[in-house]
Amino acid sequence: VWSAVPAGPPDPILGVTEAFKADKDPRKINLGVGAYRDENGKPYVLPSVQKAEELFNASKPDKEYLPITGLGEFTQRAALLAYGAESVPLNQKAISITQSISGTGALRIGGAFLARHYPNSKAIYLPTPTWGNHIPLFQDSGLEVRGYRYFDKSTVGLDFEGLKADLLAAPEGAIVLLHACAHNPTGIDPTPEQWATISDIVKERKLFPFFDMAYQGFASGSTDRDAHAVRLFVKEGHQVAVAQSFAKNMGLYGERVGAFSLTTASSEEKARVDSQLKIIIRPMYSNPPSHGARIANTILGNEALYTQWTGEVKGMADRIISMREKLYNLLTHDLKTPGEWGHIKSQIGMFSFTGLTAPQTKVLAEKAHVYMTSNGRISMAGLNSTNVNYFAESVNAALLI
Ligand code: PMP
Repeated sequence: VWSAVPAGPPDPILGVTEAFKADKDPRKINLGVGAYRDENGKPYVLPSVQKAEELFNASKPDKEYLPITGLGEFTQRAALLAYGAESVPLNQKAISITQSISGTGALRIGGAFLARHYPNSKAIYLPTPTWGNHIPLFQDSGLEVRGYRYFDKSTVGLDFEGLKADLLAAPEGAIVLLHACAHNPTGIDPTPEQWATISDIVKERKLFPFFDMAYQGFASGSTDRDAHAVRLFVKEGHQVAVAQSFAKNMGLYGERVGAFSLTTASSEEKARVDSQLKIIIRPMYSNPPSHGARIANTILGNEALYTQWTGEVKGMADRIISMREKLYNLLTHDLKTPGEWGHIKSQIGMFSFTGLTAPQTKVLAEKAHVYMTSNGRISMAGLNSTNVNYFAESVNAALLI
């Protein structure tokens, strides 16, 4: 029956890891993976996560189903983390929120809800470039995917003029996807002033802002600072949608912990939206897994653990920032590598768009055993004091070919 099924292309990001695994050279480096690595290049289980697990395991939790929208205590705490204690819709109990299968699941629930219930448009504008999975994810949700300019190749910075022009030209009521912080793949975020301008344009064009917040705390080390854009929009009176992930900031990748939320006009409207979220989720996966949500809930709800966790998030962010400094200094000062490398330092979060071209990334893989996606994106988390010198020398050599 499946003789007509064509072979699909491999996933562009996961394919990098496969090539890395097959390479036997001891100097090999994997900069494709979007997961944090410690100073020894190893996966990192946060001590606050281990402690949270010990705490709730001691109470021998059952394995019963969670409700359709997940662990209620967890989602309330997730909303507080995203929107902040001052948030008007939070205090008015007008935020509709559900647990989700990490950030991807949150985006997918959001896409499905908007496709079914958002009355003004089916078009969603994504930044160009964006996280590769956004495109099929929103298409499969039933939305019509379009792009707005984001990246300026010539400055390796934000194309703010292009962004403004494209959002101003978008049809009234269209949905716009915004990376709340640590834009993936470029690592380039708008400044607070630029966010204020984007908020004005979104208001003027009556666009619907959908925030993808996959890196809260992971970008700057502060969960409040990284929530600036979301909170600004809410303060400015926008109704927003937010997809949250706890993969990066709690290191809960495989536990699949996230939340999807919408601000609504009243607690009565919220109750209706809640009922429709349940109707969307029930036939998709019935209800979410409990273990990871219990971990996140324990951390967010315990003052000492919460403080410990914020310190650990800052530790991860700071290690990445220090690798940016080191790599910039090696390329600019030590090796005097041709080109301007200031963006390595100014970019934010796990990823850096290096400006390396697809042929250069191929040379790096074949000659130096250094693996990254062909768009020149590297995961800064894959660098450490043992391999950063070798990486900089390899980039230098690849550019001189
Ligand atoms: N959005 C962005 C921008 C991401 O980078 C990622 C992870 N790479 C996600 C969403 C979703 O990740 P997860 O489903 O693991 O939370």
